[in-house]
Amino acid sequence: MSEKKRILSGMRPTGPLHMGNYLGALANWVDMQEPYDCYFFVADWHALTSDYENTGPTAEYVRQMLIDWLSAGLSPDRSTIFIQSKVPEHTELYLILSMITPVPWLERNPTYKDQILQLQNKDLSTFGFLGYPVLQAADILMYKAQGVPVGVDQVPHVEITREIARRFNYLYGDVFPEPDAILTQTPKILGIDRRKMSKSYNNAIYLADSPEEIEKKVLQMVTDPQRARKSDPGNPDICNVFEFHKLYTDEATVEKIDRECRKAEIGCVACKKIMAASLIDALAPLQERRRYYASHPEIVDQIIADGSAKARAIAKDTMAQVKAALKMNY
Ligand code: SF4
Repeated sequence: MSEKKRILSGMRPTGPLHMGNYLGALANWVDMQEPYDCYFFVADWHALTSDYENTGPTAEYVRQMLIDWLSAGLSPDRSTIFIQSKVPEHTELYLILSMITPVPWLERNPTYKDQILQLQNKDLSTFGFLGYPVLQAADILMYKAQGVPVGVDQVPHVEITREIARRFNYLYGDVFPEPDAILTQTPKILGIDRRKMSKSYNNAIYLADSPEEIEKKVLQMVTDPQRARKSDPGNPDICNVFEFHKLYTDEATVEKIDRECRKAEIGCVACKKIMAASLIDALAPLQERRRYYASHPEIVDQIIADGSAKARAIAKDTMAQVKAALKMNY
């Protein structure tokens, strides 16, 4: 094992990646490649937990997600990048771990309760949906990851993984280390309507949006809700446009906008135009790489073949240890 701490994280391929996905996870992953031994996977089995009725677009989502990852700066030279279903050992470990996981641990998972409430248009009363933290545990434990980068709301999942690892080790002997949650800081950007940015709210700016689409969406953004007219002073501290400025506009301009907004010396349309230009500039190199990978599918295929083969070698080794611990290595 490399001397760097090993971390693992995945994303469900349920649609094109937007700025919320990028700033909430992907940008952190890119930065983690140096200090950590990174494993990043497309969680296509996990996409089935909520989208089992509509698998038609999954192959395209997987491909586009990989292109987004590579364009954003994930590098096969520094990270192992793979697709979950290319390593079928995940399902084998999932099955074994499901045998030892008490159902009440899954029923008390806060995300489970929350998603059942939020996604009422989908029938989530399935065995697979209840059990998805066990599949996550299998994903993490397979690589003996020491850390899992997560937002605060994901910490309970890592905790279930730790509990499952402990239970396995108690029953069969030490095989799995207990992974730590690595809390990641993410900027508080919202969708153009000021709700959480989400494909299902139709309020997202996508990494693959053209400059024209980006400008159009930025001009539609809800700003400080108290500022009805240009002559009203605004409050950048509660403005979503300003959050983007802080990330993508140069410091002197950000300070100027902050001052002028509070004194009603700049209008929101002018302010948004500056922000759209900054965002378009910032995304330009990513989009150029995007075009490159989109027109070279064979490169993406090779990266996935290599990453999945590397992941699978580790998975086979772990499964040999698991079966030996279970005394089922015949
Ligand atoms: S001027 Fe800019 S920062 Fe101020 S409220 Fe309008 S969009 Fe937001």
